[in-house]
Amino acid sequence: MGIVEKRVSIPFGRPMLGEEEKNAVLDVLSGHVLVHGPRAGDFEDAFAQFVGGGHAISVSSCTAGLHLFHFALGLKQGDEVIVPAQTHTATAHAVALTGATPVFVDSEPLTGNMDIDLIEQAVTERTRAICVVHYLGMPVDMDRVNAIAKKHGLKVLEDAALAVGTKYKGVHAGLLGDAGCFSFYPVKHMTTAEGGIVTTNDEALADALRGLRAFGVDRTHSQRHVPGQYDVPRLGFNYRMNEISAALGEVQVGRLDDFLSARRTNYEALEKGLREIDEITLFQSTNGHFQSSYYCLSVMLNEELMNDRSSIMEFLKNIGIGTSIYYPGPVPNLTYYKYSLGEKGQTYPVAQSISERSIALPVGPHLSEDDMATIVQGLKEALIHVRSQSSASN
Ligand SMILES: *Cc1c(COP(=O)(O)O)cnc(C)c1O
Repeated sequence: MGIVEKRVSIPFGRPMLGEEEKNAVLDVLSGHVLVHGPRAGDFEDAFAQFVGGGHAISVSSCTAGLHLFHFALGLKQGDEVIVPAQTHTATAHAVALTGATPVFVDSEPLTGNMDIDLIEQAVTERTRAICVVHYLGMPVDMDRVNAIAKKHGLKVLEDAALAVGTKYKGVHAGLLGDAGCFSFYPVKHMTTAEGGIVTTNDEALADALRGLRAFGVDRTHSQRHVPGQYDVPRLGFNYRMNEISAALGEVQVGRLDDFLSARRTNYEALEKGLREIDEITLFQSTNGHFQSSYYCLSVMLNEELMNDRSSIMEFLKNIGIGTSIYYPGPVPNLTYYKYSLGEKGQTYPVAQSISERSIALPVGPHLSEDDMATIVQGLKEALIHVRSQSSASN
């Protein structure tokens, strides 16, 4: 028995693109307007409606959005922003690009989210903001974060790159702090090829971000009575989203409810199957007021299996099951930050153990419940395989 003889096709992520997306892109290409057209605005309206209100500002990537927020805050050298150690390097880069310093905080083991108990001891008189990350789509306890921010006069940014569909006490991610940034990179919950969006309830901030994403102009394209008539009162970037991406995005937003319910169904099926395996533990997922977006299902290998992780991932790859790691190491341990921060022996033990022992398994809408059963079977066989190898070498 087993599935080892038969190769399967279960990639970790795959963009969900159909006829509607193709037609939307072709429609843009058959016109003449590739940037500054109506589609970016339509997509922004559709996304704002999806998250339940606020302002949405489309940008060229989530990283661009994070950077824009910090730039709009006026961060400079000497300022500090608290970020989780366990995240995509973009969360920290967006701070460092302004000249400010990211200050890293370890994770808590149940969800992998930033350990809120450790935030206050990281606050100094130079701290300007906290950037939370909803790790793998599981919401951070934002009431607690906002209370700390209020007490110390800090801004709160949500890196919501994996949080399309994430809700905390019924409010969608991106509207839980001062602003949130989403990613539409191909393997995320929806895609615009490359792209992102910033959401905020703060109208003045929204206006500032609209100017800053377009060179710092004082008047957007649609606000100009005469073409080319604008002034530039500040520095800015070219971080706009083009019309091809926006057209893709608008179609994808319309499919999000289906995408998210498929993720949830897959996640629950996979979680149920994996509970039979003793050598792994699972992160806490959706729980009361905490609604996950089910980006993936990450399993933690028990300590005895830590050194076998590569063999397990390779075994799964060989039978056609894609896996990933979120993330390869605590960001402060990556070479750039190790040298730029000159941290003196700080360690991030929980983030470190997640980096070393976790394997992220796919639950995306490109997969079925049968695929989830195959992943469970594949993982069981991978564990039998590494056990037989270690007993052979003993
Ligand atoms: C993917 C990701 C990013 C970067 O998103 P881009 O759109 O590729 O810039 C940032 N933060 C987190 C947590 C991510 O997962």
